[in-house]
Amino acid sequence: MTDDVVKKSPKLSKMETIKAESRQLRGTIAEELANPEPNFSGDAAQLLKFHGTYQQDDREKRNLKDEQGNRLGKAYSCMIRICTPGGKLTAEQFLGQLDLCDTLGEGTLRLTSRQASQLHGVLKKNLRETIHKINQLQLDTYAACGDVNRNVMCNPAPYKNNRILEQMQATTDALAAHLKPKSTSYFELWVSDEEGNRENITDFQPVEEPVYGKTYLPRKFKFGISLPEDNHVDILAQDTGLLAIVEDGSVVGYNLYVGGGMGRTPSAKKTFPAIGKLMAFVPYDEVCAVAEAVVKVQRDYGNREDRKVARLKYLIANWGIEKFRKKVEEYYGSPLEDAREAEITGVDDYMGWREQGDGKLFVGIQIESGRIKDEGELRIKTGLRRVLEKFKMPVRLTALQSMILCDIDPSDKNEISQILQEHGIRPAEDYSPSRRFAISCPALPMCGLSVTESERVMPQFMDRFDAELEKQGLQKDVISVHMTGCPNGCARPYTPDIGLVGRSVGKYTIFLGGNTRGTRLGFIFQDQVPLDEIVPRLSPVLNFYRQQREPNETFGDFCARIGEQSLIEQFTETA
Ligand code: SF4
Repeated sequence: MTDDVVKKSPKLSKMETIKAESRQLRGTIAEELANPEPNFSGDAAQLLKFHGTYQQDDREKRNLKDEQGNRLGKAYSCMIRICTPGGKLTAEQFLGQLDLCDTLGEGTLRLTSRQASQLHGVLKKNLRETIHKINQLQLDTYAACGDVNRNVMCNPAPYKNNRILEQMQATTDALAAHLKPKSTSYFELWVSDEEGNRENITDFQPVEEPVYGKTYLPRKFKFGISLPEDNHVDILAQDTGLLAIVEDGSVVGYNLYVGGGMGRTPSAKKTFPAIGKLMAFVPYDEVCAVAEAVVKVQRDYGNREDRKVARLKYLIANWGIEKFRKKVEEYYGSPLEDAREAEITGVDDYMGWREQGDGKLFVGIQIESGRIKDEGELRIKTGLRRVLEKFKMPVRLTALQSMILCDIDPSDKNEISQILQEHGIRPAEDYSPSRRFAISCPALPMCGLSVTESERVMPQFMDRFDAELEKQGLQKDVISVHMTGCPNGCARPYTPDIGLVGRSVGKYTIFLGGNTRGTRLGFIFQDQVPLDEIVPRLSPVLNFYRQQREPNETFGDFCARIGEQSLIEQFTETA
Protein backbone atom coordinates (compact mmCIF):
# COMPACT_ATOMS: atom_id res chain seq x y z
CA MET A 1 0.00 0.00 0.00
CA THR A 2 1.53 3.32 -0.96
CA ASP A 3 0.84 6.77 0.44
CA ASP A 4 -1.40 7.48 -2.54
CA VAL A 5 -3.48 4.37 -1.90
CA VAL A 6 -3.69 5.37 1.76
CA LYS A 7 -4.90 8.82 0.80
CA LYS A 8 -7.69 7.56 -1.44
CA SER A 9 -9.22 5.10 1.02
CA PRO A 10 -12.69 6.37 1.98
CA LYS A 11 -12.48 5.00 5.50
CA LEU A 12 -9.30 6.67 6.72
CA SER A 13 -9.31 7.89 10.29
CA LYS A 14 -9.63 11.64 10.73
CA MET A 15 -6.02 11.81 11.87
CA GLU A 16 -4.86 10.56 8.47
CA THR A 17 -6.55 13.49 6.77
CA ILE A 18 -5.06 15.92 9.29
CA LYS A 19 -1.58 14.58 8.59
CA ALA A 20 -2.05 14.47 4.81
CA GLU A 21 -3.24 18.08 4.70
CA SER A 22 -0.76 19.39 7.26
CA ARG A 23 1.96 20.53 4.85
CA GLN A 24 4.46 18.35 6.65
CA LEU A 25 3.26 18.94 10.19
CA ARG A 26 2.67 22.68 9.90
CA GLY A 27 -1.12 22.90 9.79
CA THR A 28 -2.28 26.10 11.42
CA ILE A 29 0.20 25.97 14.31
CA ALA A 30 2.05 29.17 13.35
CA GLU A 31 -1.15 31.16 12.94
CA GLU A 32 -2.59 29.85 16.17
CA LEU A 33 0.58 30.62 18.09
CA ALA A 34 0.05 34.21 17.09
CA ASN A 35 -3.56 34.48 18.20
CA PRO A 36 -4.57 35.39 21.78
CA GLU A 37 -6.70 32.27 22.40
CA PRO A 38 -5.66 30.18 25.42
CA ASN A 39 -5.77 26.96 23.42
CA PHE A 40 -5.08 25.47 19.99
CA SER A 41 -7.82 24.13 17.72
CA GLY A 42 -8.33 20.37 17.65
CA ASP A 43 -6.39 19.75 14.42
CA ALA A 44 -3.48 21.96 15.46
CA ALA A 45 -3.37 20.20 18.82
CA GLN A 46 -3.05 16.86 17.02
CA LEU A 47 -0.14 18.13 14.93
CA LEU A 48 1.53 19.69 17.97
CA LYS A 49 2.18 16.16 19.23
CA PHE A 50 4.68 15.62 16.41
CA HIS A 51 6.50 18.67 17.78
CA GLY A 52 6.58 17.14 21.28
CA THR A 53 3.62 18.94 22.83
CA TYR A 54 0.33 17.70 24.25
CA GLN A 55 -2.36 20.26 24.87
CA GLN A 56 -4.06 19.43 28.16
CA ASP A 57 -6.47 20.97 30.60
CA ASP A 58 -6.70 20.56 34.34
CA ARG A 59 -9.71 18.30 34.75
CA GLU A 60 -10.19 19.40 38.33
CA LYS A 61 -10.72 22.97 37.18
CA ARG A 62 -13.36 22.24 34.54
CA ASN A 63 -16.27 23.21 36.74
CA LEU A 64 -14.78 26.29 38.36
CA LYS A 65 -16.94 29.43 38.32
CA ASP A 66 -16.24 33.10 38.81
CA GLU A 67 -17.83 35.22 41.54
CA GLN A 68 -20.92 35.72 39.39
CA GLY A 69 -21.36 31.99 38.97
CA ASN A 70 -20.22 31.87 35.34
CA ARG A 71 -18.18 28.91 34.19
CA LEU A 72 -14.51 29.87 33.83
CA GLY A 73 -13.81 27.52 30.94
CA LYS A 74 -11.06 24.98 30.66
CA ALA A 75 -7.66 25.69 32.23
CA TYR A 76 -5.49 24.88 29.22
CA SER A 77 -1.76 24.31 29.30
CA CYS A 78 0.83 22.30 27.41
CA MET A 79 2.94 19.32 28.38
CA ILE A 80 6.25 19.43 26.52
CA ARG A 81 8.26 16.24 26.17
CA ILE A 82 12.01 16.48 25.61
CA CYS A 83 13.84 13.75 23.68
CA THR A 84 16.92 12.28 25.32
CA PRO A 85 17.98 9.17 23.40
CA GLY A 86 19.37 6.64 25.87
CA GLY A 87 18.63 9.12 28.70
CA LYS A 88 21.90 11.06 28.24
CA LEU A 89 22.07 14.65 29.46
CA THR A 90 24.73 17.12 30.51
CA ALA A 91 24.48 18.95 33.83
CA GLU A 92 23.74 22.16 31.90
CA GLN A 93 20.91 20.51 30.01
CA PHE A 94 19.36 19.16 33.19
CA LEU A 95 19.73 22.46 35.00
CA GLY A 96 18.30 24.27 31.98
CA GLN A 97 15.21 22.10 32.19
CA LEU A 98 14.85 22.91 35.89
CA ASP A 99 15.09 26.61 35.03
CA LEU A 100 12.38 26.22 32.40
CA CYS A 101 10.00 24.38 34.68
CA ASP A 102 10.40 27.21 37.19
CA THR A 103 10.14 30.11 34.78
CA LEU A 104 7.71 28.87 32.11
CA GLY A 105 6.20 25.68 33.51
CA GLU A 106 4.36 24.82 36.70
CA GLY A 107 7.47 24.23 38.78
CA THR A 108 8.03 20.50 38.39
CA LEU A 109 9.95 18.36 35.94
CA ARG A 110 8.81 14.82 35.30
CA LEU A 111 11.08 11.98 34.27
CA THR A 112 9.22 9.52 32.05
CA SER A 113 9.27 5.75 31.72
CA ARG A 114 10.98 6.24 28.33
CA GLN A 115 14.08 8.08 29.61
CA ALA A 116 12.69 11.42 28.50
CA SER A 117 11.53 14.37 30.57
CA GLN A 118 8.41 16.51 30.55
CA LEU A 119 7.64 20.11 31.40
CA HIS A 120 4.05 20.57 32.52
CA GLY A 121 1.73 23.55 32.75
CA VAL A 122 3.28 25.65 29.97
CA LEU A 123 0.77 28.21 28.74
CA LYS A 124 0.15 28.49 25.01
CA LYS A 125 1.53 32.03 24.95
CA ASN A 126 4.83 30.69 26.32
CA LEU A 127 5.07 27.57 24.18
CA ARG A 128 7.33 28.91 21.44
CA GLU A 129 9.71 30.52 23.92
CA THR A 130 9.90 27.30 25.92
CA ILE A 131 10.67 25.02 22.97
CA HIS A 132 13.06 27.62 21.58
CA LYS A 133 14.97 27.58 24.85
CA ILE A 134 14.97 23.80 24.96
CA ASN A 135 16.71 23.86 21.59
CA GLN A 136 19.23 26.37 22.91
CA LEU A 137 20.15 23.65 25.42
CA GLN A 138 21.04 21.44 22.41
CA LEU A 139 17.95 19.35 23.11
CA ASP A 140 14.77 19.01 21.10
CA THR A 141 11.17 17.96 21.37
CA TYR A 142 10.77 16.92 17.73
CA ALA A 143 8.92 13.59 17.40
CA ALA A 144 8.78 13.11 21.17
CA CYS A 145 5.07 12.36 20.58
CA GLY A 146 2.92 11.76 17.48
CA ASP A 147 2.74 9.05 14.81
CA VAL A 148 6.50 8.70 14.45
CA ASN A 149 9.38 6.98 16.19
CA ARG A 150 9.57 8.28 19.78
CA ASN A 151 12.54 8.65 22.14
CA VAL A 152 14.88 5.69 21.55
CA MET A 153 15.61 3.89 24.82
CA CYS A 154 18.87 2.21 25.82
CA ASN A 155 20.47 0.69 28.86
CA PRO A 156 21.53 3.78 30.89
CA ALA A 157 24.47 2.17 32.74
CA PRO A 158 27.27 4.77 32.69
CA TYR A 159 30.13 2.29 33.13
CA LYS A 160 33.26 3.56 31.43
CA ASN A 161 35.79 1.65 29.33
CA ASN A 162 32.90 -0.56 28.37
CA ARG A 163 32.82 -1.02 24.63
CA ILE A 164 29.50 -2.86 24.72
CA LEU A 165 27.60 -0.02 26.40
CA GLU A 166 29.30 2.55 24.18
CA GLN A 167 28.24 0.63 21.08
CA MET A 168 24.67 0.35 22.33
CA GLN A 169 24.49 4.08 22.97
CA ALA A 170 26.00 4.70 19.52
CA THR A 171 23.25 2.54 17.97
CA THR A 172 20.69 4.51 19.99
CA ASP A 173 21.94 7.86 18.72
CA ALA A 174 22.18 6.60 15.14
CA LEU A 175 18.62 5.24 15.23
CA ALA A 176 17.26 8.40 16.84
CA ALA A 177 18.84 10.55 14.12
CA HIS A 178 17.90 8.20 11.28
CA LEU A 179 14.24 8.07 12.27
CA LYS A 180 13.70 11.78 13.00
CA PRO A 181 11.22 13.35 10.57
CA LYS A 182 12.93 15.50 7.96
CA SER A 183 10.19 18.14 7.64
CA THR A 184 11.67 21.56 8.40
CA SER A 185 8.43 22.65 10.08
CA TYR A 186 9.87 22.04 13.55
CA PHE A 187 12.77 24.40 12.97
CA GLU A 188 10.61 27.07 11.39
CA LEU A 189 8.11 27.01 14.22
CA TRP A 190 10.35 26.75 17.23
CA VAL A 191 14.04 27.16 16.46
CA SER A 192 14.28 30.06 14.05
CA ASP A 193 15.25 33.32 15.74
CA GLU A 194 13.45 35.45 13.23
CA GLU A 195 9.72 35.67 13.65
CA GLY A 196 9.30 36.35 9.93
CA ASN A 197 11.18 33.25 8.93
CA ARG A 198 8.20 30.95 9.28
CA GLU A 199 7.18 29.55 5.98
CA ASN A 200 3.74 30.49 4.74
CA ILE A 201 1.30 28.44 2.73
CA THR A 202 2.19 29.80 -0.68
CA ASP A 203 5.93 29.41 -0.14
CA PHE A 204 5.65 25.88 1.14
CA GLN A 205 7.95 23.42 -0.60
CA PRO A 206 7.87 19.90 0.78
CA VAL A 207 11.14 18.21 1.61
CA GLU A 208 11.57 14.51 1.15
CA GLU A 209 10.44 12.34 4.09
CA PRO A 210 12.31 9.20 3.02
CA VAL A 211 11.20 7.08 5.95
CA TYR A 212 7.76 8.42 6.76
CA GLY A 213 6.30 9.58 3.45
CA LYS A 214 3.42 12.03 3.32
CA THR A 215 1.33 10.73 6.19
CA TYR A 216 3.95 9.51 8.67
CA LEU A 217 3.08 6.33 10.57
CA PRO A 218 -0.36 4.93 11.39
CA ARG A 219 0.43 5.30 15.12
CA LYS A 220 3.28 5.91 17.53
CA PHE A 221 6.38 3.71 17.26
CA LYS A 222 8.93 2.77 19.91
CA PHE A 223 12.46 1.34 19.91
CA GLY A 224 14.42 0.00 22.88
CA ILE A 225 17.91 -1.54 23.20
CA SER A 226 18.91 -3.92 26.00
CA LEU A 227 21.45 -6.48 27.12
CA PRO A 228 20.45 -10.11 27.75
CA GLU A 229 21.53 -9.84 31.39
CA ASP A 230 19.75 -6.53 31.89
CA ASN A 231 16.46 -5.74 30.21
CA HIS A 232 16.31 -2.40 31.96
CA VAL A 233 14.35 -0.72 29.17
CA ASP A 234 11.76 -3.47 28.78
CA ILE A 235 12.40 -4.05 25.07
CA LEU A 236 9.62 -6.60 24.62
CA ALA A 237 7.05 -3.95 25.54
CA GLN A 238 8.09 -1.88 22.52
CA ASP A 239 7.23 -2.01 18.82
CA THR A 240 10.82 -2.96 18.12
CA GLY A 241 13.34 -4.30 20.62
CA LEU A 242 17.03 -4.88 20.00
CA LEU A 243 18.85 -7.35 22.25
CA ALA A 244 22.63 -6.97 22.06
CA ILE A 245 24.57 -10.03 20.93
CA VAL A 246 28.08 -9.84 22.32
CA GLU A 247 31.15 -11.70 21.11
CA ASP A 248 34.69 -11.10 22.40
CA GLY A 249 33.67 -7.96 24.27
CA SER A 250 31.90 -6.29 21.35
CA VAL A 251 28.33 -6.01 20.14
CA VAL A 252 28.29 -7.89 16.83
CA GLY A 253 24.62 -7.21 16.28
CA TYR A 254 21.18 -7.48 17.81
CA ASN A 255 18.37 -9.97 18.01
CA LEU A 256 15.36 -8.13 16.68
CA TYR A 257 12.00 -8.41 18.43
CA VAL A 258 8.93 -6.86 16.84
CA GLY A 259 5.35 -6.17 17.80
CA GLY A 260 5.43 -5.36 21.50
CA GLY A 261 3.02 -2.74 22.78
CA MET A 262 1.09 -2.01 25.93
CA GLY A 263 -2.16 -0.23 25.14
CA ARG A 264 -5.54 -1.93 25.26
CA THR A 265 -9.17 -0.87 25.45
CA PRO A 266 -11.20 -3.13 27.76
CA SER A 267 -14.40 -2.49 25.80
CA ALA A 268 -12.75 -3.37 22.49
CA LYS A 269 -11.91 -7.08 22.38
CA LYS A 270 -9.83 -6.53 19.26
CA THR A 271 -7.23 -4.67 21.34
CA PHE A 272 -4.60 -6.34 23.50
CA PRO A 273 -1.17 -5.81 25.03
CA ALA A 274 1.61 -7.83 23.42
CA ILE A 275 5.24 -8.60 23.97
CA GLY A 276 7.64 -8.54 21.06
CA LYS A 277 8.23 -11.64 18.95
CA LEU A 278 11.76 -12.72 18.09
CA MET A 279 12.26 -12.24 14.36
CA ALA A 280 15.89 -12.16 13.23
CA PHE A 281 19.50 -11.20 13.90
CA VAL A 282 20.70 -7.85 12.59
CA PRO A 283 24.45 -7.17 12.17
CA TYR A 284 25.67 -4.12 14.11
CA ASP A 285 26.24 -1.96 11.00
CA GLU A 286 22.87 -2.81 9.49
CA VAL A 287 20.62 -1.69 12.34
CA CYS A 288 19.45 1.57 10.78
CA ALA A 289 18.75 -0.05 7.42
CA VAL A 290 16.73 -2.90 8.92
CA ALA A 291 14.96 -0.57 11.36
CA GLU A 292 13.98 1.61 8.42
CA ALA A 293 12.56 -1.41 6.61
CA VAL A 294 10.52 -2.40 9.70
CA VAL A 295 9.17 1.13 10.05
CA LYS A 296 8.32 1.37 6.34
CA VAL A 297 6.41 -1.91 6.36
CA GLN A 298 4.34 -0.61 9.27
CA ARG A 299 3.97 2.71 7.42
CA ASP A 300 2.60 1.01 4.32
CA TYR A 301 0.58 -1.85 5.82
CA GLY A 302 -0.40 -0.70 9.31
CA ASN A 303 -4.09 0.03 9.83
CA ARG A 304 -4.94 3.65 8.99
CA GLU A 305 -8.66 3.32 9.38
CA ASP A 306 -8.99 2.36 13.03
CA ARG A 307 -6.41 3.90 15.37
CA LYS A 308 -7.32 1.42 18.10
CA VAL A 309 -5.65 -1.34 16.07
CA ALA A 310 -3.02 0.68 14.24
CA ARG A 311 0.11 -0.29 16.21
CA LEU A 312 2.61 -2.73 14.71
CA LYS A 313 1.47 -5.52 17.07
CA TYR A 314 -1.85 -5.77 15.25
CA LEU A 315 -0.22 -6.02 11.83
CA ILE A 316 1.95 -8.84 13.13
CA ALA A 317 -1.02 -10.54 14.76
CA ASN A 318 -2.85 -10.39 11.42
CA TRP A 319 0.04 -11.50 9.26
CA GLY A 320 2.06 -13.77 11.52
CA ILE A 321 5.76 -13.24 12.11
CA GLU A 322 6.93 -15.13 8.99
CA LYS A 323 4.94 -13.02 6.55
CA PHE A 324 6.06 -9.86 8.35
CA ARG A 325 9.71 -10.95 8.20
CA LYS A 326 9.46 -11.65 4.46
CA LYS A 327 8.02 -8.21 3.84
CA VAL A 328 10.77 -6.57 5.92
CA GLU A 329 13.37 -8.53 3.90
CA GLU A 330 11.76 -7.28 0.71
CA TYR A 331 12.03 -3.66 1.89
CA TYR A 332 15.55 -4.21 3.22
CA GLY A 333 16.57 -5.89 -0.02
CA SER A 334 18.16 -9.00 1.41
CA PRO A 335 17.29 -12.02 3.59
CA LEU A 336 17.80 -11.58 7.30
CA GLU A 337 19.80 -13.99 9.45
CA ASP A 338 17.97 -16.10 11.98
CA ALA A 339 18.15 -14.85 15.56
CA ARG A 340 21.15 -15.93 17.64
CA GLU A 341 20.87 -17.87 20.90
CA ALA A 342 20.22 -15.36 23.66
CA GLU A 343 17.89 -15.12 26.60
CA ILE A 344 16.81 -12.21 28.74
CA THR A 345 17.93 -13.17 32.22
CA GLY A 346 17.92 -10.12 34.48
CA VAL A 347 17.32 -6.47 35.17
CA ASP A 348 19.14 -3.74 37.09
CA ASP A 349 17.87 -0.42 38.41
CA TYR A 350 21.28 1.31 38.78
CA MET A 351 20.34 2.90 42.07
CA GLY A 352 22.84 3.71 44.83
CA TRP A 353 26.58 4.35 44.73
CA ARG A 354 28.71 2.24 42.38
CA GLU A 355 32.16 2.32 40.82
CA GLN A 356 31.91 3.18 37.16
CA GLY A 357 35.08 1.53 35.87
CA ASP A 358 37.46 4.49 35.51
CA GLY A 359 38.18 5.23 39.16
CA LYS A 360 35.09 7.43 39.43
CA LEU A 361 31.66 6.72 40.87
CA PHE A 362 28.06 7.09 39.85
CA VAL A 363 25.01 7.34 42.06
CA GLY A 364 21.48 6.35 41.13
CA ILE A 365 18.87 8.54 42.79
CA GLN A 366 15.36 7.25 43.33
CA ILE A 367 12.76 9.75 42.11
CA GLU A 368 9.31 8.48 43.02
CA SER A 369 7.08 8.50 39.93
CA GLY A 370 9.78 10.59 38.27
CA ARG A 371 8.47 13.85 39.72
CA ILE A 372 11.21 16.36 40.46
CA LYS A 373 9.77 18.94 42.80
CA ASP A 374 10.15 20.58 46.18
CA GLU A 375 7.42 19.60 48.60
CA GLY A 376 7.69 19.90 52.36
CA GLU A 377 10.88 18.33 53.65
CA LEU A 378 11.56 16.62 50.34
CA ARG A 379 13.27 19.21 48.14
CA ILE A 380 14.46 17.09 45.22
CA LYS A 381 14.60 19.97 42.78
CA THR A 382 16.72 22.23 44.96
CA GLY A 383 18.94 19.37 46.12
CA LEU A 384 19.68 18.25 42.57
CA ARG A 385 20.24 21.84 41.51
CA ARG A 386 22.82 22.37 44.23
CA VAL A 387 24.68 19.16 43.38
CA LEU A 388 24.65 19.74 39.63
CA GLU A 389 25.63 23.41 39.87
CA LYS A 390 28.61 22.57 42.03
CA PHE A 391 29.84 19.32 40.48
CA LYS A 392 28.52 19.65 36.89
CA MET A 393 28.35 15.92 36.33
CA PRO A 394 26.56 14.29 33.39
CA VAL A 395 23.19 12.67 34.01
CA ARG A 396 21.47 9.54 32.76
CA LEU A 397 17.72 9.06 32.98
CA THR A 398 16.49 5.55 33.70
CA ALA A 399 13.47 3.65 32.39
CA LEU A 400 12.22 3.46 35.97
CA GLN A 401 11.66 7.23 36.09
CA SER A 402 14.79 7.83 38.14
CA MET A 403 18.21 9.31 37.41
CA ILE A 404 21.91 8.63 37.67
CA LEU A 405 24.59 11.23 38.46
CA CYS A 406 27.81 10.14 36.71
CA ASP A 407 31.58 10.79 36.74
CA ILE A 408 31.85 11.53 40.46
CA ASP A 409 35.27 11.82 42.02
CA PRO A 410 35.33 9.53 45.08
CA SER A 411 36.55 12.46 47.18
CA ASP A 412 33.26 14.27 46.45
CA LYS A 413 31.04 11.39 47.54
CA ASN A 414 30.53 12.55 51.12
CA GLU A 415 29.70 16.11 50.19
CA ILE A 416 27.21 15.02 47.55
CA SER A 417 25.58 12.58 49.97
CA GLN A 418 25.39 15.36 52.53
CA ILE A 419 23.69 17.78 50.12
CA LEU A 420 21.19 15.14 49.05
CA GLN A 421 20.44 14.27 52.66
CA GLU A 422 19.99 17.93 53.62
CA HIS A 423 17.25 18.14 51.00
CA GLY A 424 15.45 15.03 52.17
CA ILE A 425 16.67 12.90 49.25
CA ARG A 426 17.15 9.47 50.74
CA PRO A 427 19.80 7.01 49.58
CA ALA A 428 18.55 4.13 47.44
CA GLU A 429 19.21 1.64 50.23
CA ASP A 430 16.47 3.36 52.25
CA TYR A 431 13.89 2.22 49.73
CA SER A 432 12.55 -1.32 49.60
CA PRO A 433 13.71 -3.22 46.50
CA SER A 434 10.09 -3.29 45.33
CA ARG A 435 9.76 0.46 45.64
CA ARG A 436 12.87 0.94 43.54
CA PHE A 437 11.15 -0.94 40.72
CA ALA A 438 7.77 0.80 41.12
CA ILE A 439 6.65 3.28 38.46
CA SER A 440 3.43 5.11 37.64
CA CYS A 441 2.05 7.30 34.89
CA PRO A 442 0.95 10.95 35.50
CA ALA A 443 -2.84 10.35 35.03
CA LEU A 444 -5.06 12.89 36.87
CA PRO A 445 -5.51 15.78 36.79
CA MET A 446 -3.83 16.60 33.47
CA CYS A 447 -4.03 13.47 31.32
CA GLY A 448 -7.19 13.65 29.25
CA LEU A 449 -7.42 9.87 28.95
CA SER A 450 -7.07 8.91 32.61
CA VAL A 451 -10.05 7.32 34.29
CA THR A 452 -8.54 7.41 37.76
CA GLU A 453 -5.47 8.35 39.82
CA SER A 454 -1.98 6.96 39.39
CA GLU A 455 1.05 9.12 40.29
CA ARG A 456 -0.73 10.98 43.09
CA VAL A 457 -1.79 7.79 44.91
CA MET A 458 1.31 5.71 44.20
CA PRO A 459 3.37 6.78 47.27
CA GLN A 460 0.56 5.92 49.68
CA PHE A 461 -0.11 2.67 47.85
CA MET A 462 3.56 1.72 48.09
CA ASP A 463 3.56 2.57 51.81
CA ARG A 464 0.80 0.01 52.30
CA PHE A 465 2.42 -2.51 49.96
CA ASP A 466 5.80 -2.14 51.70
CA ALA A 467 4.11 -2.67 55.08
CA GLU A 468 2.46 -5.85 53.79
CA LEU A 469 5.76 -7.17 52.43
CA GLU A 470 7.40 -6.42 55.78
CA LYS A 471 4.61 -8.24 57.61
CA GLN A 472 5.10 -11.28 55.40
CA GLY A 473 8.90 -11.21 55.60
CA LEU A 474 9.16 -10.40 51.89
CA GLN A 475 10.74 -6.98 52.28
CA LYS A 476 13.97 -8.07 50.57
CA ASP A 477 12.20 -9.40 47.47
CA VAL A 478 11.90 -7.36 44.30
CA ILE A 479 8.21 -7.35 43.41
CA SER A 480 7.71 -4.77 40.70
CA VAL A 481 4.51 -2.72 40.60
CA HIS A 482 3.54 -0.53 37.65
CA MET A 483 0.42 1.62 37.96
CA THR A 484 -1.49 3.51 35.27
CA GLY A 485 -4.59 5.65 35.35
CA CYS A 486 -6.09 3.96 32.28
CA PRO A 487 -5.50 0.89 30.10
CA ASN A 488 -3.29 2.76 27.61
CA GLY A 489 -0.37 1.48 29.60
CA CYS A 490 2.13 4.36 29.53
CA ALA A 491 3.95 2.91 32.55
CA ARG A 492 4.11 -0.58 30.99
CA PRO A 493 1.69 -2.21 33.45
CA TYR A 494 1.24 -5.53 31.61
CA THR A 495 4.79 -6.88 32.07
CA PRO A 496 5.83 -6.43 35.77
CA ASP A 497 5.10 -8.77 38.69
CA ILE A 498 2.02 -6.69 39.53
CA GLY A 499 0.22 -4.37 37.13
CA LEU A 500 -2.42 -1.97 38.40
CA VAL A 501 -4.47 -0.50 35.58
CA GLY A 502 -7.06 2.20 36.15
CA ARG A 503 -10.47 0.81 35.19
CA SER A 504 -13.00 3.30 36.57
CA VAL A 505 -12.98 6.04 39.19
CA GLY A 506 -10.96 4.75 42.17
CA LYS A 507 -10.85 1.19 40.80
CA TYR A 508 -8.16 -0.89 39.15
CA THR A 509 -7.59 -4.13 37.29
CA ILE A 510 -4.90 -6.21 39.01
CA PHE A 511 -2.56 -8.06 36.67
CA LEU A 512 -0.27 -10.78 38.03
CA GLY A 513 2.27 -13.12 36.48
CA GLY A 514 4.60 -10.77 34.61
CA ASN A 515 8.13 -10.29 35.89
CA THR A 516 10.77 -7.62 36.44
CA ARG A 517 12.67 -8.91 33.40
CA GLY A 518 9.74 -7.97 31.20
CA THR A 519 9.63 -11.30 29.36
CA ARG A 520 6.02 -12.23 29.96
CA LEU A 521 2.58 -10.63 29.99
CA GLY A 522 0.60 -10.73 33.18
CA PHE A 523 -2.97 -12.00 33.36
CA ILE A 524 -6.02 -10.39 34.92
CA PHE A 525 -6.26 -11.54 38.52
CA GLN A 526 -9.10 -9.32 39.65
CA ASP A 527 -10.98 -6.46 38.04
CA GLN A 528 -12.59 -3.28 39.35
CA VAL A 529 -10.76 -3.42 42.68
CA PRO A 530 -10.98 -0.27 44.82
CA LEU A 531 -7.57 1.22 45.57
CA ASP A 532 -7.82 0.53 49.29
CA GLU A 533 -8.60 -3.13 48.67
CA ILE A 534 -5.68 -3.91 46.39
CA VAL A 535 -3.22 -4.76 49.16
CA PRO A 536 -5.76 -6.85 51.13
CA ARG A 537 -6.53 -8.79 47.95
CA LEU A 538 -2.86 -9.35 47.24
CA SER A 539 -2.08 -10.32 50.82
CA PRO A 540 -3.23 -13.99 50.64
CA VAL A 541 -1.42 -14.45 47.31
CA LEU A 542 1.78 -13.07 48.82
CA ASN A 543 1.33 -15.40 51.78
CA PHE A 544 0.84 -18.35 49.42
CA TYR A 545 3.99 -17.29 47.57
CA ARG A 546 5.94 -17.09 50.81
CA GLN A 547 4.91 -20.60 51.76
CA GLN A 548 5.03 -22.36 48.40
CA ARG A 549 7.70 -20.70 46.32
CA GLU A 550 10.70 -22.58 45.00
CA PRO A 551 14.24 -21.41 45.83
CA ASN A 552 14.92 -18.03 44.21
CA GLU A 553 11.54 -18.01 42.50
CA THR A 554 10.24 -14.48 42.03
CA PHE A 555 6.66 -13.49 42.78
CA GLY A 556 5.79 -13.07 39.11
CA ASP A 557 7.35 -16.39 38.14
CA PHE A 558 5.48 -18.06 41.00
CA CYS A 559 2.15 -16.60 39.86
CA ALA A 560 2.83 -17.74 36.30
CA ARG A 561 3.74 -21.26 37.51
CA ILE A 562 0.63 -21.59 39.66
CA GLY A 563 -1.39 -20.24 36.79
CA GLU A 564 -4.15 -17.76 36.15
CA GLN A 565 -7.06 -20.12 36.70
CA SER A 566 -5.73 -21.62 39.90
CA LEU A 567 -4.91 -18.26 41.46
CA ILE A 568 -8.28 -16.82 40.54
CA GLU A 569 -10.13 -19.86 41.89
CA GLN A 570 -8.19 -19.89 45.12
CA PHE A 571 -8.24 -16.21 45.91
CA THR A 572 -11.09 -14.44 44.25
CA GLU A 573 -13.72 -15.63 46.72
CA THR A 574 -11.60 -14.33 49.61
CA ALA A 575 -12.16 -10.82 48.31
FE1 SF4 B 1 -2.79 8.97 30.74
FE2 SF4 B 1 -3.53 6.45 30.56
FE3 SF4 B 1 -1.06 7.15 29.78
FE4 SF4 B 1 -1.68 7.16 32.32
S1 SF4 B 1 -1.64 5.35 31.00
S2 SF4 B 1 -0.62 8.81 31.24
S3 SF4 B 1 -3.79 7.77 32.34
S4 SF4 B 1 -2.98 7.77 28.84
